Amino acid sequence: MSEFLMTIGGTTVSSPTTFGVINPATGTVFEHAPECTPEQLDQAFAAAQGAYGGWKRDETARRAAMLRAADLLMANVDAIAPTLTSEQGKPLLDAQIEVYASAMWLQHYANLEIPRVVLQDDETALVEVVRRPIGVVAGITPWNFPLVLAFWKIAPALLAGNTMVLKPSPYTPLATLKTFEILQEAFPAGVLNAVSGGDGLGSLMTSHPVPRKISFTGSTATGKKVAASAAPDLKRVTLELGGNDPAIVLDDADPVAVGNAIFDSAFNNCGQVCSAIKRVYVPEALYGEVVDVLAQRAAAIVVGNGAEAGTQLGPINNAMQYERVKMLVADAMSAGATAVTGGADMGQPGYFFQPTILTGVQEGVRIVDEEQFGPALPVMSYTSVDEAIQRANHSNFGLSGSVWGADSERAAAVAADLECGTAWVNTHLALAPNQPFGGHKWSGIGTENGVWGLEAFTEVQAIHHSRAAL
Ligand code: NAD
Repeated sequence: MSEFLMTIGGTTVSSPTTFGVINPATGTVFEHAPECTPEQLDQAFAAAQGAYGGWKRDETARRAAMLRAADLLMANVDAIAPTLTSEQGKPLLDAQIEVYASAMWLQHYANLEIPRVVLQDDETALVEVVRRPIGVVAGITPWNFPLVLAFWKIAPALLAGNTMVLKPSPYTPLATLKTFEILQEAFPAGVLNAVSGGDGLGSLMTSHPVPRKISFTGSTATGKKVAASAAPDLKRVTLELGGNDPAIVLDDADPVAVGNAIFDSAFNNCGQVCSAIKRVYVPEALYGEVVDVLAQRAAAIVVGNGAEAGTQLGPINNAMQYERVKMLVADAMSAGATAVTGGADMGQPGYFFQPTILTGVQEGVRIVDEEQFGPALPVMSYTSVDEAIQRANHSNFGLSGSVWGADSERAAAVAADLECGTAWVNTHLALAPNQPFGGHKWSGIGTENGVWGLEAFTEVQAIHHSRAAL
């Protein structure tokens, strides 16, 4: 039996069958996770439903429990982070940071005020607008940041008074299962439940009669299925989906500083970040210099097993994604692109692909038009800023984007024209618990983080309290 168990109604539970979890640094199964049965899923939702009444009534207790949970997370970094590295591939330090960031999200929300607006307060009436919890929330997460993306949901959902059943990706279920087990000490039984299984379990969750809200992070293709599945029951949905973030470099930028910063934002987590830089637009005059910096960084970065000291970039998380990145790079090269550095797999066990910088590529080629979600970056030149903006916006995606230049006011004016949920100026991937994050167009529906992310786990209730004598 696996040492990794689901948590249902405050109790750890195994399942009749398990599935293998692969370490992407070796390409082999290193652990097993429970395969939740439909009956166990019913039990998890029933437990969350049963816990809801008590949990939603005591805001003070909720805040205290969340702070306790944050402490537990930080005290257990060493029990969680190595597993995250083994299943996800990221360097151990990044896994540790992810655990701390999860605690930070809990702390932020534990101290956030729940909005309450008084519209009228006089002799005739008290009219207030308050926020009520929605009920049981189904959370579904992807494999790139299994923990922190779960806490983008857990922290606001629990503060608002909801209870939750969460399913991590089948590629990275283990750190989440371990974390939920550890956190049971902080929460009443049934408030926070974890189930594990494949995509089919996800669709059982979205069509299940108990949850009133689906909070989903994953691909756009799956997000559309989730929306369709939630619609007949009018379940509320938040969908955080894919991105194809552009970075526009302006002609007054320092090519070395900007090239370095763009590299860091494009290759973070081996390019497997929804809001990583995925295509770069550079003015012709700076093109060669920016490409040189990106290529030097890509050639120099230490790629390896995230568990080994010195590793700066881990493998791609899974075989399907690895094959997809290989295919997209090969497709671009057959369409005339040049790999200034990289361009091939690393010819070793595990899902390692050479950090790749592509030139001679443009819109109409798949790696520019689609989300590559891996360590390969197309760099394109442009002749006018208007053209760059038009090309940046010419996408079904609209998650985030950035503009880079010495005159930051000018860069901000260009950023204002980007059609996306976060527009960065002279930075990218700058995220914070108080800052809203969400996608325009096919990159999602709704918002996570900040007070907006809290409101997404609430329903509006108007209270009109007449003061007329009866
Ligand atoms: P995915 O859509 O394949 O899977 C995400 C989760 O959904 C998994 O837990 C999976 O088991 C589950 N799932 C699959 N089919 C389902 C269905 N029919 N119904 C319900 N659940 C189902 O995505 P992935 O490959 O794990 O993650 C990568 C994608 O996630 C990328 O596109 C990336 O950009 C996106 N992402 C977005 C954000 C964001 O905040 N916008 C953050 C991280 C990742």
